[in-house]
Amino acid sequence: LYNMVQDLKGNIRVYCRIRPSFNCESKNIIDFIGGDGSLVILDPAKPQKDGRKVFQFNQVFGPAATQDEVFKDTQPLIRSVMDGYNVCIFAYGQTGSGKTHTMSGPSGGLTSDMGINYLALNDLFQMSKRRKDIIHYDIHVQMVEIYNEQVRDLLVQDSCTVKYPFILVIYLTLNIYLIGKKNWPRSFCVSLTIHKLEIRSCTGDNGLSIPDATMHSVNSTTDVLNLMKYGEVNRVVSTTAMNNRSSRSHSVLTVHVHGKDTTGGTFHSCLHLVDLAGSERVDKSEVTGDRLKEAQYINKSLSCLGDVITALAQKNSHIPYRNSKLTLLLQGSLGGHAKTLMLAHVSPEEDSFSETVSTLKFAQRVSTV
Ligand code: ADP
Ligand code: MG
Repeated sequence: LYNMVQDLKGNIRVYCRIRPSFNCESKNIIDFIGGDGSLVILDPAKPQKDGRKVFQFNQVFGPAATQDEVFKDTQPLIRSVMDGYNVCIFAYGQTGSGKTHTMSGPSGGLTSDMGINYLALNDLFQMSKRRKDIIHYDIHVQMVEIYNEQVRDLLVQDSCTVKYPFILVIYLTLNIYLIGKKNWPRSFCVSLTIHKLEIRSCTGDNGLSIPDATMHSVNSTTDVLNLMKYGEVNRVVSTTAMNNRSSRSHSVLTVHVHGKDTTGGTFHSCLHLVDLAGSERVDKSEVTGDRLKEAQYINKSLSCLGDVITALAQKNSHIPYRNSKLTLLLQGSLGGHAKTLMLAHVSPEEDSFSETVSTLKFAQRVSTV
């Protein structure tokens, strides 16, 4: 019954979160936030009536909303993973709009004001404990990054670094140091941590989309915190190597849930928690080389994601999953019986107005409300 009620609400949902303003001199472009998911923004250049733009989502969280409030409205989706549904939650928005804050916590910090990733796993563990007499659950996680259409395992650990974690610390420190010394070829410095992976189109709900990414069994939030820290450190190395890379790549935390009930019936479902690359447009006349290539890859994968969700919302017969690594990876969790939640992030400051409008338009396009 619970999932039926959820189904009636639709399989694609869009929430919008507006982060607090950090610039007290900036005008606030948010005009109105309705309890019913409506949002009105005001063009700072046209403060009269014709500068008003109205949007409608399933839910809007204002600057004062807490992590727990956002999580509370996300929790029902996460819970349906325990009933065998595939779920995909992703954070969309320009760099600095609060995506990582929502998914991981403040500045990616992992100690307080936890984000959805941590709260979701915590909830899954608690449900697994509560149901332990009826269903036995096994929970595993994978964490990868997609950068320029290449997939990298963020949790890969060789046997040596698992046994002696300090070796990893020394290695990473050395790596960051060497990258700082410009005379070392960057490709050499980062080569040891880069593991390119193939994505397999997962047919059927049980297919693993990245069979080669390491799979870690987790039983407690401590396990999760350790892995997330590890993934974060692993990501920092490449961020240092490639100027602000973390906001130029998509990071995907995949939670696999295997259930086995008392009659021997089994199921597998997965939850993808995605922190997308910044959606901001870059001015083609200003960037060249690697920056331009990055921007083109990001544009392509984000627009593919939009196309896939729009095609699903319109119940088209052809869904263009194969057009990007991101949609291929998420394929099993987008469409069919899967549930999708897009968290569109915007800043309330006037200098972000045009990016805010384009984020809201994108979100409105994939929304079925
Ligand atoms: P993004 O991942 O979209 O680039 P971040 O999550 O890194 O953005 O947010 C940019 C900054 O704003 C960070 O310092 C973050 O802690 C802060 N921030 C974002 N959203 C909120 C919020 N809802 N409440 C308080 N601080 C926030
Ligand atoms: Mg971020």
